[in-house]
Amino acid sequence: MAEGELGVVLKTTPLRESDLLVVLYTATHGRVAAVARGARKSQRRFAGALQLLVLGRYDVRRSRGELWSLESADVEREWTAIASDVFAVAHASYIAELVAGILPAESPEPEALDVIVGLWDSLAEAGASPAALRHVELALLELAGHMPALGSCAACGERDLESGAVFDPSRGGAICRRCAATSRGPGVRPLEPGTRAYLVEVARAGSASEARGVDERHAAGDRTAARDAMLAMVTSLVGKPLKSLEYIAKLGAAARKAP
Ligand SMILES: [Zn+2]
Repeated sequence: MAEGELGVVLKTTPLRESDLLVVLYTATHGRVAAVARGARKSQRRFAGALQLLVLGRYDVRRSRGELWSLESADVEREWTAIASDVFAVAHASYIAELVAGILPAESPEPEALDVIVGLWDSLAEAGASPAALRHVELALLELAGHMPALGSCAACGERDLESGAVFDPSRGGAICRRCAATSRGPGVRPLEPGTRAYLVEVARAGSASEARGVDERHAAGDRTAARDAMLAMVTSLVGKPLKSLEYIAKLGAAARKAP
């Protein structure tokens, strides 16, 4: 056993009567879409590895055009105990959707799996954390070549971002006061020094677990503004609203209503 490539499942969709279309992120091929024949009738060949929160071995072979075929799978390590925590699952689902949306097909980034597993480790240790999620989000944006500028203006390189700076998702992040005059697109918002400092600290952390502590050192307003800026960036890159984000927003609203 334990043949095949190390990878994770990003999404599964029913296909025809008995098959599943499985979107995987694998170490050697990057993101691939593979047909798991008969997986809706029997998962025996796939050994519980066709779900989120599993690092598996996937025997994938190129089939026709862009489509691959998934012959068998095995669990290498799993974090499925997290599944009882709705916030943790929501964060894991969002990151799976983000990987599917911003990392190009068949263009492997070997670090991507470490980043994903780093989030699961952090969720298993102590549950959902905004800073851990932002860390993973930024790490994936960097791998995709879309790391937002945080230390200097994305347009002119100016390092003074203390007053009048904005965050402009379509221009690539922080924009200085002078360049902000021409930032008029959707998603442009003021970038307060505290919000920028929060994102810089989160990006610098060595892992999702390490980033967790950043939340305590910053005001709630900066955490919220950082989240909104990052989500504007992600939505602009993916080109459509992410389903998992709508779900997280609903969870958040329900939690605020709860006594
Ligand atoms: Zn500038």
